[in-house]
Amino acid sequence: MPETLPEVLISEEQIKAKVDELARRISADYREVDDLILVGVLKGSFIFLADLARRLTIPRSVDFMALSTYGDSTTTDGAVRMILDLRRNISGKHVLVVEDIVDTGHTLAYLVRALAARQPASLKTCALVQKPDRREVYAQIDYLGFEIPDVWVVGCGLDWAEKFRTLPYIGVVHPEG
Ligand code: 5GP
Repeated sequence: MPETLPEVLISEEQIKAKVDELARRISADYREVDDLILVGVLKGSFIFLADLARRLTIPRSVDFMALSTYGDSTTTDGAVRMILDLRRNISGKHVLVVEDIVDTGHTLAYLVRALAARQPASLKTCALVQKPDRREVYAQIDYLGFEIPDVWVVGCGLDWAEKFRTLPYIGVVHPEG
């Protein structure tokens, strides 16, 4: 574990501006909806979701899921399982999945499949960052913050072995260095 802080990839100011922009777009797109359910994926999405939820100007509520991927901490082999389900029934409701990061796409693809089966009125997705070069499966991101290269990022909810989640910026760590 390095003693120094991770180098900045996306600054706190850039993140704030992007969250404002996403919140404006989402608020406009859902202006007719009386209860948008934001589904956060634990743990990584909790900070982005809190920032986004507070900036929306439409009626919204928040629920969480937790998923687990088999394999080691820095790779995903595509096997995803649910370890915490939503408390609410989303049938007939408008749902926006809020993810911290889309890497291979397996997690988001799994989530969309699992939630679509519950027949929500609509289902869209939002992610703070994605790594397009790492994509293995298609998963649509309707509202995207940033595209980043294939590096391990931390901050804004993202961790490295449970460290750095509360960094206010997105930084890069080098697991080998
Ligand atoms: P997926 O490969 O299924 O798209 O993403 C699986 C999960 O891997 C993400 O939800 C996230 O928890 C984790 N992940 C992927 N890339 C990174 C990264 O650069 N930093 C951190 N902290 N987590 C990542």
